Amino acid sequence: MPYNSIICRYNEIATKGNNRSMFENALIRNMKRMTKERVSGLNFVKTRGRIFIHKNEFADFSEEEEAYLKERLQDCFGLDSFSFCIEGERTLEAVLDHIRNTVKPLFEQYINLGRPVKFRTRARRSDKSFPLRSKEIEIEVATMIEEMYGENKVQVDLMNPDISIGVEIREKNSTIFLETVKARGGLPVGSNSPLLGMLSGGIDSPVACTMAMKRGCRMDFLTFHSYPYTPLESVQKVWRIAKIINRFQPHGVLYACNLSEVQKLIRDNCDPKFRTVLYRRMMMRIASKLCKKCHLYGIVTGEAIGQVASQTVVNMSVIDRAVPDLIVRPLCGMDKLETIARAEDIGTFPISIEPMADSCTVFAPPSPVIHAKLHFIEFEESKIPNMEEAVQKAFDEIKLVTDDGLTDIPSHETDD
Ligand code: ATP
Ligand code: MG
Repeated sequence: MPYNSIICRYNEIATKGNNRSMFENALIRNMKRMTKERVSGLNFVKTRGRIFIHKNEFADFSEEEEAYLKERLQDCFGLDSFSFCIEGERTLEAVLDHIRNTVKPLFEQYINLGRPVKFRTRARRSDKSFPLRSKEIEIEVATMIEEMYGENKVQVDLMNPDISIGVEIREKNSTIFLETVKARGGLPVGSNSPLLGMLSGGIDSPVACTMAMKRGCRMDFLTFHSYPYTPLESVQKVWRIAKIINRFQPHGVLYACNLSEVQKLIRDNCDPKFRTVLYRRMMMRIASKLCKKCHLYGIVTGEAIGQVASQTVVNMSVIDRAVPDLIVRPLCGMDKLETIARAEDIGTFPISIEPMADSCTVFAPPSPVIHAKLHFIEFEESKIPNMEEAVQKAFDEIKLVTDDGLTDIPSHETDD
């Protein structure tokens, strides 16, 4: 179809008050960034409640451009839906002309099936000075189509149409479109403060991180491994997951921290039944230091209440006490099947289920404590000699993950 424009709709941003334009600008910035690789020189035009995208001089999008832009815009949080459309003059004649030319191949395709084609028109008039009301525009379009094909070949069906023709009359232009593509909603990445995502190789944490992105937070990621007790491939697995969810945001980096020395101290000095909670508190301390160094405003985890022993309310609150940072748990109210459905939707599920040794299970006890009392945990930690130094060392040795393996963190990454 020869479309010359894209009409983009947003939902939650429209309810924002004074800072609405901050959200709109963030959305446009993201749409530009996410599409520029393959289609350059796009114009983004902000009008009341909508954003239009078109090429210079309203040149038509090619089929390849249409397919690419469709895929990219669907991943742009903040967008509710969009339609490739024909943007034209704000007159009834222009609207009817464009519809006549655009719908022809589609109607003929259906007519060739040998049954009446069911269609409807949905008109919206955001510019009330336009001489015809929405209903009247719909009648004009239906009349034209009936005249084009004859009443026995086409019929209006509001509930279950084969073809739905959208018309929007705006202050400066008119648009017509045939398809509405659903996007993911939410708020544009970058419209809220950045966070650190604790990424394991499991199913839950990538879903949790994506949900935080959907609320506007750009993410960097931290993964813990226990080399040589877990293989370094586990880190590459997490990196593959990070790359998948990075398509929703400006590139987030993945940091990798070796927890094995800290885990050995816990193994050698503490009651085994507390190990899981003790590991988790150490992870939080290291994550907290990284947040400070990289100017991240909180920690996201994939925990859900009651999922495993370390995720009881009591244990999670004891884990929280290890650090002063905000800990965001987007999956808290979700059950596992909902999380799996989301993991499949964002495309991380097949990688997450690849078998891989998990850092948390290194030296893990057969029956971990389910309701850890804070004073017991603090007592256990007091038995670890030089705990603070061990945590600092693990933190100091954090590496950056790349396609080629682990590298030192370049100093500009952290802006110390
Ligand atoms: P996931 O599927 O995300 O691994 P899970 O159900 O296996 O979650 P846990 O293993 O208890 O649950 O982990 C809970 C959360 O703690 C994870 O979602 C993640 O945010 C964090 N976490 C666990 N292990 C690691 C790790 N090795 N590196 C970084 N974060 C981790
Ligand atoms: Mg896990």
